[in-house]
Amino acid sequence: MTYRVVWFKRDLRVHDHAPLAEAARLGPVLCLYALEPVLWQQPDAARQHLAFVQESLRDLQVELKCLGGRLHFAVGDAVDVLDRLHRQSPFLGLFSHEESGNAASYERDRRVKLWCEANAVPWREYRQFGVVRGLRERKHWVRQWEQLVQSELMPSPALQAAEVLRSNDPWPSADSLGLEVHEPDRRQRGGRANGLEMLQSFLTDRSATYLGGISSPLSASHACSRLSPYLTWGCLSLREVVQAARLRMGDPALPTRQRLGLEGFMSRLHWHCHFIQKLETEPAIEHHNMHRGYDGLRESDHNEVHLQALKDGRTGWPLVDACVAMLRETGWINFRMRAMLVSVAAYPLWLHWRPVGEWLARQFLDYEPGIHWSQMQMQSGTTGINTTRVYNPIKQARDHDPDGHFVRHWLPAMQKVPDAWLFEPWRMPPEVQTRCGVVVGEDIAMPLVDLEQATREAKQRVYALRTDPAIAAVQADIVRRHGSRNRSAENLSRPRSPEVQAQASLDFS
Ligand SMILES: Cc1cc2nc3c(=O)[nH]c(=O)nc-3n(C[C@H](O)[C@H](O)[C@H](O)COP(=O)(O)OP(=O)(O)OC[C@H]3O[C@@H](n4cnc5c(N)ncnc54)[C@H](O)[C@@H]3O)c2cc1C
Repeated sequence: MTYRVVWFKRDLRVHDHAPLAEAARLGPVLCLYALEPVLWQQPDAARQHLAFVQESLRDLQVELKCLGGRLHFAVGDAVDVLDRLHRQSPFLGLFSHEESGNAASYERDRRVKLWCEANAVPWREYRQFGVVRGLRERKHWVRQWEQLVQSELMPSPALQAAEVLRSNDPWPSADSLGLEVHEPDRRQRGGRANGLEMLQSFLTDRSATYLGGISSPLSASHACSRLSPYLTWGCLSLREVVQAARLRMGDPALPTRQRLGLEGFMSRLHWHCHFIQKLETEPAIEHHNMHRGYDGLRESDHNEVHLQALKDGRTGWPLVDACVAMLRETGWINFRMRAMLVSVAAYPLWLHWRPVGEWLARQFLDYEPGIHWSQMQMQSGTTGINTTRVYNPIKQARDHDPDGHFVRHWLPAMQKVPDAWLFEPWRMPPEVQTRCGVVVGEDIAMPLVDLEQATREAKQRVYALRTDPAIAAVQADIVRRHGSRNRSAENLSRPRSPEVQAQASLDFS
């Protein structure tokens, strides 16, 4: 039988799926999802990711069936799975989306390419994000992003199923893949139907609170679009989300507040690809500092006690610990709180971004390597091109949770702490602790370090490097490769004199 293989990866939908549409145009297709143990054994993989994928595959299976197709599920290394299939019944081509993933998926793609060449199987890859392969610099990137998102959505094609594989492999247990036991109880559920519902409620209603609602962890769960896991695992296509939002914005009756909210949302969809582009251009940033002049800054100072306290939500700073508690239960936290968590890890706790990033990758249901590692580095001050932002968890709590509703919800012991000590409970005198029944160091953690002093020392160490002329000299090259042409997109610092840079970095927001 002559047929082509459509290989589903992080694109679990039939709608606006170019590889599926193109392969189906040419004849019978075999739709394949290969669960690759080697990818699930990486330190960034989590049980919640696997469950979300399983839920999404259920929807995909139904969608394919409606089109006349069938999903074949295999467990194994992608090359082995393709080879087995090809030996059983040779296929004419492999169709998939491009993936800008972690190093393990990059290595897997390299081997698949070699296998395709050795077996004379053409592999056609399609863009699903506004990410450009082989890009050397960012000059025309924005125009290319626009071209992609404006182009027509791919229709869901009628399928002629290639009946080659008769049976599917059994779904492996999370335990057999070595995934850590914890899974957030209240995480978002996978699948296109859930993604579409989320999109609909955001466009028609919730976007009215986007502006002004996304920074506080109290309002963000409702005000943010909450589309990130559906974009990460491809239940929705970026292009369909952009086009749906633009259609809504074109409604003359749309209230101004909602229009402004959707404008803010649109710029973030742009950042989505802008950040993934960085990993596509330079895969090494998953493991190495974007600016190699920062090598050695934190590497040899690893403090396991600090890392463990952060993971356990026992840093002693209530807002930080409450965010960790929320993450454990929901698999999501808003941007500002993510940035604050990383800032606290990188500055007062002086932790390198890599172990913190591995842990957070598993906590975030929406883990997207390109966004994640770029943001980890940006918030840790190792890109060399971004203004250093250091978030003070006490100030963040005053600004975004002034009455303590958030910390009291996620840290029950804080419910007994009087308002006067809400932001710095460790300063409670012993008699107040006795009166309210909360012992600092037992019921709530004692801060690991003196926040002000540790932050000051950390900033001095980073600035000493940042202002080094040899390090500043490399900045222009990094900007050329990775910098946004829209400066507000990532708070880029212009290449300036070291003195001005150091001044700009004294932002303790
Ligand atoms: C340290 C750190 C790690 C992060 N890791 C991830 C990650 O692994 N996956 C991920 O999708 N986002 C990540 N983000 C970005 C951001 O926090 C999430 O995209 C956002 O909180 C998801 O919620 P939402 O879909 O409701 O966002 P919305 O505000 O509704 O934004 C809509 C979409 O735009 C994109 N987006 C939003 N903010 C950003 C941003 N700052 N940079 C790039 N894209 C953005 C996402 O795709 C998001 O779904 C990270 C941020 C930080 C500070």
